[in-house]
Amino acid sequence: MNSLSTSKLPRRIEGLNELAYNLWWSWHTEARELFKVLDRPLWKATGHNPVRLLQQIAPYRLVAAAQDPAFLEKYDSVMGEFKAGMSSDRTWLNKEYPHLAQHSIAYFSLEFAIHNSLPLYAGGLGILAGDYCKEASDLGLPMVSIGFMYPQGYFHQQISVDGWQEDVYHELDFNEAPITRVLTAQGQAVNVEVPLDARPVQVAVWQVNIGRVKLYLLDTNVENNPASDRQLSARLYAGDREMRLQQEIILGIGGVRVLRALGIEPAIWHANEGHTAFMMLERVRELVAKGMDFAKAANKVRATTVFTTHTPVPAGNDVFSLDLMEGYFHRYWGSLGLDRDAFFSLGVQESDNVVFNMTVLGLRMADLRNGVSQLHGGVCRRMWHCLWPDVEEKDVPIGSVTNGVHVPTWLAPQTARLYERHLGHDWLERHDDPALWEHVLDIPDEEIWALRRWLKYKLVSSVQDRSRKRWAEGQVAPVQALATGALLDTETLTLGFCRRFTDYKRAALILHDVDRLKRILQNELQPVQIVFAGKAHPDDERGKQLIQEVYNAAKDPEFGGRIAFVEDYDMHVARYLVHGADVWLNTPQLLQEASGTSGQKAALNGALHLSVLDGWWYEGYNGANGWAIHQDIESPASPDSHREDAEELYNLLEEKIVPLYYERDISGVPHGWIRVIKEAIRSNVPLFSARRMAKEYTEQMYLAAAQANETMRMGASHPPRILDTSHTSNDASETPIPPSASVSTHGTIQIEGSE
Ligand SMILES: *Cc1c(COP(=O)(O)O)cnc(C)c1O
Repeated sequence: MNSLSTSKLPRRIEGLNELAYNLWWSWHTEARELFKVLDRPLWKATGHNPVRLLQQIAPYRLVAAAQDPAFLEKYDSVMGEFKAGMSSDRTWLNKEYPHLAQHSIAYFSLEFAIHNSLPLYAGGLGILAGDYCKEASDLGLPMVSIGFMYPQGYFHQQISVDGWQEDVYHELDFNEAPITRVLTAQGQAVNVEVPLDARPVQVAVWQVNIGRVKLYLLDTNVENNPASDRQLSARLYAGDREMRLQQEIILGIGGVRVLRALGIEPAIWHANEGHTAFMMLERVRELVAKGMDFAKAANKVRATTVFTTHTPVPAGNDVFSLDLMEGYFHRYWGSLGLDRDAFFSLGVQESDNVVFNMTVLGLRMADLRNGVSQLHGGVCRRMWHCLWPDVEEKDVPIGSVTNGVHVPTWLAPQTARLYERHLGHDWLERHDDPALWEHVLDIPDEEIWALRRWLKYKLVSSVQDRSRKRWAEGQVAPVQALATGALLDTETLTLGFCRRFTDYKRAALILHDVDRLKRILQNELQPVQIVFAGKAHPDDERGKQLIQEVYNAAKDPEFGGRIAFVEDYDMHVARYLVHGADVWLNTPQLLQEASGTSGQKAALNGALHLSVLDGWWYEGYNGANGWAIHQDIESPASPDSHREDAEELYNLLEEKIVPLYYERDISGVPHGWIRVIKEAIRSNVPLFSARRMAKEYTEQMYLAAAQANETMRMGASHPPRILDTSHTSNDASETPIPPSASVSTHGTIQIEGSE
C-alpha cells in the first residue's frame, strides 16, 4: 500500500494520513486550510497535493503543529466533520429513498476530474464525472466508479512564440498521487484478465477515495504484460483507433470483471458516454454463460442500465471500423450467443452500414437514456430517430438531465463566506432550494462588489505569476510575456473564454472584426480585456489553428496587452478564471454545445454569462441574468450566422455590457451590474448544481432501474421494459429544436467530442 510512513506523523495528528488519501479534503475549505497552514510555501510548491506535502514536510513542523492548540482545534473540528461525512446514516438518500441504499450504482467513465493531483481528464466530460462522484458522496448515493489510471494523463500545453501548441507529457509519480493499490483479503494485489483478441491482458486496480465514493482505476502497466500492453493505459485520448478500442475493451469488459473480483454486485449501471458501452456486453455475456439466451439476457441488462450521451456533433461519436471490431470480437460474439451479423447490428445504424458506433450500442443496450440539457435531449431525439423509425420524433425514448456543477468545488472560499453570512450557516445543505437564493437580493451591493474585486485581483495576479514563471525559465521571447498576460489590469472589465479549442466552439469569433474589437478593448475610459485558455486535442489541426489565431492577437501590440492566452488550462487555472472574470464568454455554433458547465461555475461566483443561447443557457437565461447571442434558434445553420453572431456580440458589448459595467455611483460601485449578478446567482445556482442533477438521475433513472432489478431478482421471467420517456424530464411537448434544423449522424473525423 502506498501509504506514508505514519511513524513520521505525531500520534496526535496521525489522522492527516487518512485525510490525505481521501479527496474529500479537496471540497472542504477547512480541510484544505489544515494542510495549507502546515507549510504554506510547500503547499503551493506541491500543487496543493497533501500526499506530497506530508512526504516532503520537515518533521519539526509536524511536531510543532501537534503541540499548537490553534492547529489542534482546527484538526479536531475537520476530523470530526470528516468522520461524520463518511458515515451514511443522515444522508439525503437515506432520508428519502432508504431502500436504494442497498443497491450499488456502478458509474463508468473514461475520464474523471477530481483534483489536479490526479490528472485523469481532458475537459468537460471528466469534470462532469468528477463533480458527479463528489455530489454522490454528499448525497449518500451508493456509488462505485470505474475509470482508467493514466500515468501520463492528458498532455500539458505550451505555446511556442509563433503560437503553435506543443504537447508535453509528464509522468505521474504514483507514490505522490492519492491512490492506493487494491488488495485482496489475503493482501494480494487484485488482478483481472481481459482478452484482447487472443491474448490475455492483466489489469491491476488502484483505488481513489472520493468521500464515501470509491473510484477504481484500471491499469495495464503490469509486469507480466508485453511492453505494448503496458503502455495501453499510459495516456488519455492518445494513440490510434486501435489503441482506443483496446482501452474501451479494457474499461468496459475489464471494469465489470474488477467489480466481480471485488465482490461488488451493482444493481444499477450507469455508462457516461459511449466509450464505456462494452460493459453492457460483458454483463450479457455473464448471463449467457449461465444459460440464458441473448434476447432475455439483453433485456435484463437494458432494464438496469442508464446511458448518458454527451455528443451533439456527429464527429464526436465514437466509431470503429467493422474490420477493426472483427479482429477483437470474433471470439467474443459467440459467447454472447450471437453471430457476426447479429453482433454488428448492435452498433451499426441501418442507414450507415460501415462503422460500429458506440453511441448506437449504448442506446440499444440501455433502457434509460438521456442527453445533458433539454435542448440537447431534443437534438438527440432528432439525431437518433433512425433507431426508432416507428415512433414520432418527439417520442424517441431519450430524455434529458441537464448537467450541473459541484458547488463546494467551484465556489471561491470568499464567495462561500459571503453566502454563509447572508444565507445562513446551513446554506450549503440547502443549496438546490430556489427559495434559499431569494435572499441573495438582500446582500448589500458593496459586499458583492468587494468580493468581485478581490476575485479579479486573484485572477490577474495568478495569471501574471504564471507569465513571470515562464519568463524566468528563460525560454520565452519578450512578446510572449505580453501574450500570456503580463499587462492585464485589475480594474478593467474582463471577459473569460476558456474551453477546448475546436472548430464549433468558435474561439476566434470575437476576432471576426479586428478593428472593431480593438476599439472596444482600447477604449480609453472604458477598456475591456480578454483572457483565453484552452487546449486543442493533439489531432485537431483546426483547433490548433484557432489557438494560433488567438495567440497572435494576444501578441499584437495594437491590442495593447488587453488579450492574454493562459497556457495549460486545467482545473487549477479554471478555478481562478471562473471566479475572477467579470463576463464568461461562450460562442459555440448553435445546437453543438451539449450543455457546457464552465458558465455555471462562473455564475456561482457572480461572473456573468454572455453566450449563444445553446446548451444549459437555453434553460438558464431569463432576460435579466446575463446576455444571450443568437436567440433565434429557428435559423441555426444560416450560412452567415458567423458574421451575424459576431456583430450581435459586438453590439451587446458596446451598447449594454461595457456601459453597464462602468456606470458607477460616487463610491465606485456599479449597482446596475450588481443587479444582474444577484439575478444570475438567484436564478442559476440552485438549478445548475450537481445536487439537482444527482437527484434527477436518482429519481428519474435509478429508482426505475433498481425496481427492475428487484422485480427480476424476485424471479419475474420478463423484466419490465422501460420504453416511454415519461420518467425523464423529456419535455417532448416543448422540444425546442426547430423543424428546419437538421442533424446528421454521419461523419468520419475522429475528434474528441467530450464537451
Ligand atoms: C468546467 C471545465 C471544462 C468544461 O467547460 P465547458 O463550459 O463545458 O467548455 C473544461 N475544462 C476544465 C478544466 C473545466 O474546469
